[in-house]
Formats: sequence, structure tokens, C-alpha cells
Amino acid sequence: MDERTGLPIVGMVGAGQLARMTHQAAIALGQSLRILADSAHDGAALIAPDVVVGDYRVLEDLHTFARGCDVLTFDHEHVPNEHIAALAAEGVAVHPGAAALRFAQDKQAMRERLTAMGVPCPRWAPITDAADLESFAAEVGWPVVLKASTGGYDGKGVWVVGSADEAQEVLGSGTELLAEERVAIVRELAADVARSPFGQGAAWPVVETVQRDGINVEVIAPAPDLDDETAEYAQSLALRIAAELGVTGVLAVELFETAEGLLVNELAMRPHNSAHWTIEGACTSQFEQHLRAVLDYPLGSPAPIAPVVVMANLLGGPDDVVPKALDERVHHLMAHWPDVKIHLYGKQFRPGRKVGHVTALGADLATVRRRATEAADYLMNGDRT
Ligand code: ADP
Repeated sequence: MDERTGLPIVGMVGAGQLARMTHQAAIALGQSLRILADSAHDGAALIAPDVVVGDYRVLEDLHTFARGCDVLTFDHEHVPNEHIAALAAEGVAVHPGAAALRFAQDKQAMRERLTAMGVPCPRWAPITDAADLESFAAEVGWPVVLKASTGGYDGKGVWVVGSADEAQEVLGSGTELLAEERVAIVRELAADVARSPFGQGAAWPVVETVQRDGINVEVIAPAPDLDDETAEYAQSLALRIAAELGVTGVLAVELFETAEGLLVNELAMRPHNSAHWTIEGACTSQFEQHLRAVLDYPLGSPAPIAPVVVMANLLGGPDDVVPKALDERVHHLMAHWPDVKIHLYGKQFRPGRKVGHVTALGADLATVRRRATEAADYLMNGDRT
């Protein structure tokens, strides 16, 4: 409890853009997010006053950080699960808890649990050697998607292999692996929901997530031409997963749309890129909702406030001209697209790194989409003409 305000203190482990945007939402609720950062230069550490620099892999650092926090939550999935369980055993309120978070940290555990729940997933198998891979491929056909069970993000830790030979290096790397059939994906969707410890749930509209080279570049809310029945099914599936796994906070369920229906790709238990559009585009943003949920406040309305909302990620390019030209480009972007909202994360520009996003709202899908993607492209690449 903050003595001055009488309001709770939420501690967030990790200081990336998710913590940065959660801090923004905390301000409106009268709170100040306490942040555990790797370094004082992390995106959220640059802007929040209550920052502790420490190592999320070290239990003692987590202990020190948790002291005085009403609730502990996360901006990433990398805190060792046993540390989270240890903190909870000592009486620290941690949301999401270790038992739930495991299914966002370990893809094999997630596949096992979802399969047991009867949730549709790509066919999969744990893989320890070339023989396992050969027999799985004999069942589902090459190519096969190999995944590191833990530690992957933005497509790192995912390999499409056409033969056991091609997989040799990965198989020999000591990484714990699972294999999945390569799904014929029509498009990728996400069902984002929140759940409080009390058990209240709220679902935002299902979105389409457009990927390039394994990285999400654009999110369209709601997913265009998704029939009501499928959308409602995806929302209720995500709420059911949240309830059965005991998730508290935001849960993002990444989905593949296929000719045969929806399959779950993976779970994230924190604010997620697929719901950045909610900042301007929904009655309650995912960041506010995450705070409400982990504090066991009543949840806010997830209703969208425009017929179409499009978010485009800003990905760092190979040229270092961007940071130098950024101020000028922001200026031009504001002049040319006055209704497009800009979010910059205070991060160093590196090729492929998410350094910000833009959001556009409106009534016409093609127009809104063009505005968001053109604005993002201009900010990163300048005038191509
Ligand atoms: P990460 O944890 O790195 O985000 P994902 O498991 O989400 O990894 O996979 C990254 C991308 O790889 C997905 O968004 C999808 O485009 C592709 N992919 C993953 N699994 C499969 C699969 N079984 N079949 C086809 N494509 C896949």
C-alpha cells in the first residue's frame, strides 16, 4: 500500500515496453508501478520513478523487490517458475501464479495440458533424437516444425525442417524440443481475455495478427470476415483456458485459422502485442485490465470504440539513419496522418526489434489499414518515392 495515496502498489518484473505501457495505465488509476529492471536504460526504467535494478533470475533480488508490493506480476515469461512458487509460498501475492504461468513458459507442458483439456492443437510430439523426429514425420509428413520448449520468442526457437539431417544441429544443441505438424495456416488470430482471482472474465474482440518472418507486424481488430460463431467460439475457448489453468491477468491465446477450424498455437500470460490496439481502440486497454485483474478489481468493459482498429508495429531496420531522422519523421507523420497515434518505446533501434507501434481507428477496413501501415512504413523507412 502506498501510504500517500492509500492505493495498492503493483510490482512488475521486467522493464520492456509492456511495463512501460502498464505504467502509463497505472498513472490513471492513481498508482505508480514498481518495476524490476535489468538496467536503468530499459524502456520502462527510463520513465517510471519507482525502479529497482536487479536480476529476475535471482530469488534474493525478487524477494527484495517484492517487499512492500501488494501484488507481483510480469512483463515477460522468463522468471524461473520455482522462484515464483517460492515467493507465493512465503505469502507474496503473485499473478499469474506459478502453476498457471508454467503453461506459458514451457510449450511441451502447454501442449500436454491443452491436449488433455480437448483443446484443438496441431499434432505434436516430444522429441529427443533423430529417431523420434523420423517417426513423428512418418505420421504427419515433412516438413515438421521443431520448437524449443522454453525460451523462444518472435520466432526464435522455431525451426522448419525438411529432414532429420536438416535438424541435426538443433537436435544436438541440448535444447528440450517438441515437434509439430506444419499447419496449413489460412491466417493467424488471437483471442485476448483477462481473468481476475475472483473469477471474473472479459474478452476483447478476436483479432487477426499478420506475421512477417515470424514477427507480428500488424493487428486488425476485429479479425476481418470472421463469422460470429467462430469468433464466439474463440473467445469462449480463451476464457475456458483462463479458468481451467487458473490464469490471473491478461491471457493471449494465439490461434491458427485453418480450413478445418481453429488450432491453438501458444499462450501468453501478460499484456500482449496482439492487444496493443486496445489502448485507443477499446473501452478498457489491456494494460488497465491487467492491473484491474491482478489487483482483483472488477474488470472494465472490453468493448471496442470503433468499427475497425489497426495496429502496426515499428520494427527497427538495418540502417541507423532512423534514430537520427526520427524526430523529423515523427513531425511529418503527425502532419500527414493526424489521426494516427504513435507509441515509441524508448528502445535502441536494432534490425527486427519492436521499437514502437502506431494505431489507427475508423469505419472502413481498407482505409484504416492503409493509414496504419503507411504511417508505420514511413516512420521506419522514410519516403520511398
Ligand atoms: P514464438 O514463441 O517464438 O512466438 P511460435 O510458436 O508462436 O513461436 O511460432 C512462431 C511462428 O511460427 C508462428 O506465428 C507461425 O507463423 C509459425 N508456426 C509456429 N508453429 C507452427 C506450426 N505448427 N505450423 C505452421 N507454422 C507454425
